[in-house]
Amino acid sequence: MLEVGGFTPLSTTDWPGRLAAVVFVQGCPWRCVYCHNPSLQLRGRSRGPGWADVIETLDRRIGLLDGVVFSGGEPTLDPCLPAAIEEVRGLGFQVGLHTAGIYPERLAALLPQLDWVALDLKTAFEAYDALTCRRGSADAARRALELLLASGVAHELRTTYDPRLIGDDALRALARLLRAAGASEWVLQRCRQPAGEVAPPPSPKLLQRLQDEGPRVLLREA
Ligand code: SF4
Repeated sequence: MLEVGGFTPLSTTDWPGRLAAVVFVQGCPWRCVYCHNPSLQLRGRSRGPGWADVIETLDRRIGLLDGVVFSGGEPTLDPCLPAAIEEVRGLGFQVGLHTAGIYPERLAALLPQLDWVALDLKTAFEAYDALTCRRGSADAARRALELLLASGVAHELRTTYDPRLIGDDALRALARLLRAAGASEWVLQRCRQPAGEVAPPPSPKLLQRLQDEGPRVLLREA
């Protein structure tokens, strides 16, 4: 059974334009310095409902929700994710996925079952390991980006922005690589600290450079 770390029965923000329930899958092998869900990082530490309870709730919400988003943690970590997606599709829901692209080949296998994917891109690939605290993390993210863009599945490419963690040069390098990869739009999400403080937005000058060098930039509050 899927290890559920948390469940939100109704969200209007986790899948733009959709009313969705969000299933937070327990476990993530990365240790990003700004992780907002550290309690979801370790497997076997779930404080969420059982998968059967989630399905029971979803069953009562048929007709009230557009879809279900699998988030995390890193949902593709869980070997039960494909079966869980199948079950949710069987109830008639659309399915979205939040991923950092940590397991690109698992993502590739899931793409035909997905209606929408939000891919979290951390920073320029050269700076990835320092931010995720994991060696080789950029290779996974690069491959996931290629696979997602080639798939034709509706998606959102997004980056959590905090100028204390992502320098201007790294952000511009990410903008350029996204444009080179064929991305048309990129969401910059201002980082929210656990105490509630929100990181400042990029300066107007930096924002202009990002627009000039990369895909169209959408700014979003975290
Ligand atoms: S990939 Fe996401 S869940 Fe995993 S450590 Fe980074 S921010 Fe946290």
